Amino acid sequence: MQPTGASLMPELPEVETIRRALAPRVEAQTILALDVFEPRLRLPIPRTLDRDLPGRKIQSLERRGKYLIFVLDQGHYLLVHFGMSGRFVIVSPETARLPHEHWQLKLPELTIRLRDPRRFSLLLSGSGSPATHPLLRMLGPEPLEDAFTQTYWIQVIRRRKASIKTLLMDSRIVAGVGNIYANEALHRSGIHPHRPGGRLSAARLIRLHAMIRKVLIEALASGGSTLRDYRGIDGDPGYFSTAFYVYGREGLPCFGCRNVIRRIRTGQRATFYCPSCQK
Ligand SMILES: [Zn+2]
Repeated sequence: MQPTGASLMPELPEVETIRRALAPRVEAQTILALDVFEPRLRLPIPRTLDRDLPGRKIQSLERRGKYLIFVLDQGHYLLVHFGMSGRFVIVSPETARLPHEHWQLKLPELTIRLRDPRRFSLLLSGSGSPATHPLLRMLGPEPLEDAFTQTYWIQVIRRRKASIKTLLMDSRIVAGVGNIYANEALHRSGIHPHRPGGRLSAARLIRLHAMIRKVLIEALASGGSTLRDYRGIDGDPGYFSTAFYVYGREGLPCFGCRNVIRRIRTGQRATFYCPSCQK
């Protein structure tokens, strides 16, 4: 079930679910080919990638924020971002190319295609430590790792005037939280999404810090349940949409107070909240 009227972008739990599903199937595999059907994505696919990759071995599959990282031998890596609508599909190599399929990575026992109707996804390459790539270097801490402390969170938010939802979705502050989980974490914290970050008390920020982790952990757990049939990579991206409290629930009753969930805009993004529960 897709929530209506709002796009589903893969966020940390979805990318991590894909990583967990794919890692055992790609690690230690040697790349046979990279076929580029359409290089014009958010940034163009590097021209020589189809010649550079064959013969390289995939050492591990990592994640940072919403980026998937294929760590290759000899210090090389591939960086994938799914953008607004990208997803992986597993096909047999002879399968005809379908609309919106932009590239495929051929391994001995697996062919992975990137399907992306809106073409905001990325496929980039690099060498050296992936952490030094310009797109990864500026990312804030991983929300589920130790570096994302209460102290860090309070200090970085309390200096800012922007709305708490805008700050929560800023990957330089915390990596991997997008529109869905920002909406959900704010609802469970009882915080109005447009409240300026710097006006929130330490106690409210500590509650939000805990709820960010809680919604991500719950989503990971539900993504894990979709792993058994590999739907996390082959079809439904593994969203546990029935568990959303506010996201995509405009006009429906709040589970807490039965008041109607509202939809407003925050910048370019849809925001869902309960006017009674969130102040
Ligand atoms: Zn409510």
